[in-house]
Amino acid sequence: MESASSRNNAEAHGSESLAEWPVEELESVPDCPICGSHDRALLYDGLTDRVFGVAPGKWTLYRCARCESAWLDPRPTRESIGLAYANYYTHDASDHPIVRRKGGLRTFLHDAMNDYRNTRYGLKRAPSNCLGRWIIPLVPSLRAAVDAECRHLPSPPPGGGRLLEVGFGNGGFLKLATEAGWSAEGIDPDQKAVEAARSRGLNVRCASAEDLKSESGSYDMIVLCHVIEHVHDPLLVLRELYRLLTPGGTLWLDTPNLNSKGHRKFGRYWRDLDPPRHLVIFGSESLISILGGVGFVGVRRRWRGLSVFDVFPVSEAIKYSRDTRGASRNGKPPIGEVFAELHEMFFSKDREFITITAVKPVES
Ligand SMILES: [Zn+2]
Repeated sequence: MESASSRNNAEAHGSESLAEWPVEELESVPDCPICGSHDRALLYDGLTDRVFGVAPGKWTLYRCARCESAWLDPRPTRESIGLAYANYYTHDASDHPIVRRKGGLRTFLHDAMNDYRNTRYGLKRAPSNCLGRWIIPLVPSLRAAVDAECRHLPSPPPGGGRLLEVGFGNGGFLKLATEAGWSAEGIDPDQKAVEAARSRGLNVRCASAEDLKSESGSYDMIVLCHVIEHVHDPLLVLRELYRLLTPGGTLWLDTPNLNSKGHRKFGRYWRDLDPPRHLVIFGSESLISILGGVGFVGVRRRWRGLSVFDVFPVSEAIKYSRDTRGASRNGKPPIGEVFAELHEMFFSKDREFITITAVKPVES
């Protein structure tokens, strides 16, 4: 039997998980959970939790031949999936700024980004530098990162707008949306996340989209950031969100892209395989056609900006069995990552994340 210290050491270095997931807490998923096809190919087997190092088990990922989504088979049941979320980052209530205010150029950019947030999204962030509204739009990666942080929020409709965030993490965006004039609410199945957000004064409850039976057609905007890949029935969730939106309401969604440059580069070491938390991973084209099937129109691809600088260092740490926690670039990123970031700007299908907005038609 492994000692506690050797186990901690193994986890710290992201090496193989030592225990098995309880076999009675696994369910098989022979058909594609998105399109129902039987036709699949093995993508990877023997995957382990290398990102957080908390979930036991080895995992197999298949890719659908029809819709090109990937899924875990077998996967943890709904009842047992909580095992994979011990020490998960949503329990951390701290906010992570895009640029830290650490002197010189960083301080200038930090304050300039605040000015861009304030003028573009109606926030009141301080300290700010009034050059930001002119300079940030000239730096596409920074502009894209701030726009994605603000979920491309439009002004609330006259008389006030209701916004729902499904899976609100540390509540940072709910706070931002409230500041921008929205009436913002959050739902999350994780009681700890709900308690932490309530302690910050946010309007949240422990629920899933299916639980909001009486709220049909009542939200002007729904936000889903890195959530859809974690749910057992993503198609059902998308249908429920469609039901909850007002006609003309907007869905904002962000999820890893199986067709990304990072996945091609790192393969089985790519951070966003993240087994067994990511139950389904979409390809950009497949997700867009699924949203159309649910009834959404006006699907627009957006760009998150700066995501390669998060995904690549962690994927590299996984590949070379280094500690993934705190894996980040100190100082200048390698030139390959700078090129990957430029590539993202022009080739939306290859981006690390599928970031899209879609609209519920007025007549549906
Ligand atoms: Zn499929």
